[in-house]
Amino acid sequence: MPVADLVAENITKQFESAGQALAILQGVSLELSAGQNLVILGPSGAGKSTLLQILGGLDPPTSGTVQLRGVNPFELAGRELARFRNANIGFIFQDHHLLPQLSALENVLIPVLAQQRVQRTSVERAEQLLAAVGLSQRMNHRPGQLSGGERQRVAVARALIMQPVLVLADEPTGSLDTASAQAVGQILCDLSEKEPAILVCVTHSEALADQFHRRVSLANGRIVEANQSSI
Ligand code: ADP
Repeated sequence: MPVADLVAENITKQFESAGQALAILQGVSLELSAGQNLVILGPSGAGKSTLLQILGGLDPPTSGTVQLRGVNPFELAGRELARFRNANIGFIFQDHHLLPQLSALENVLIPVLAQQRVQRTSVERAEQLLAAVGLSQRMNHRPGQLSGGERQRVAVARALIMQPVLVLADEPTGSLDTASAQAVGQILCDLSEKEPAILVCVTHSEALADQFHRRVSLANGRIVEANQSSI
């Protein structure tokens, strides 16, 4: 059988708090391939963001391994790791993290700028992505001239510009009204599948979770499939 694009094996994470070890993740394993999506539900403090940071190469696990297309990001040196993340992983946060002085188009091109000189093909791809998220009439608007939902759609386009293997979204609709949240969730799922990238999203929104193919919960530091008891 071919190896999945993302393989996380037996991930654990402990934090030290007031001299005590807090076991946040206690053996999380996941396998996902391009075009698949997964939503991880769980209450605040369950460890969802911690897991996303580990999958995204931002914070190493205490034990266990992450492999993205056969590369363990935590075996890479600092600069190499930053480059690997930029080229292979797109991030979307609750807050859009756009640069206020740049246009929507320039914001989408930031990951390209971090890697190389911007070529015409990259500008064309950024324009196509902005059109795909419904912003062809807003490319030259700055974030302050866009609605919250439009800003998150720019963030979706920016996350996809490098044709990443993996897109990670942490409460991507947490700051939006119901209608905008529904639209952004749909765009995020549709575009990731079409690219195709793996999409992993963490949220406590049931409405957002309903838009994903596969849902799991994080409970007591472990993944629980939706149709199983969390006890
Ligand atoms: P969620 O995203 O599900 O709300 P988090 O992953 O943010 O949960 O946090 C899980 C737990 O880990 C929380 O109890 C949090 O306080 C703790 N935690 C997260 N990061 C750190 C850290 N750097 N140091 C100590 N504790 C942390």
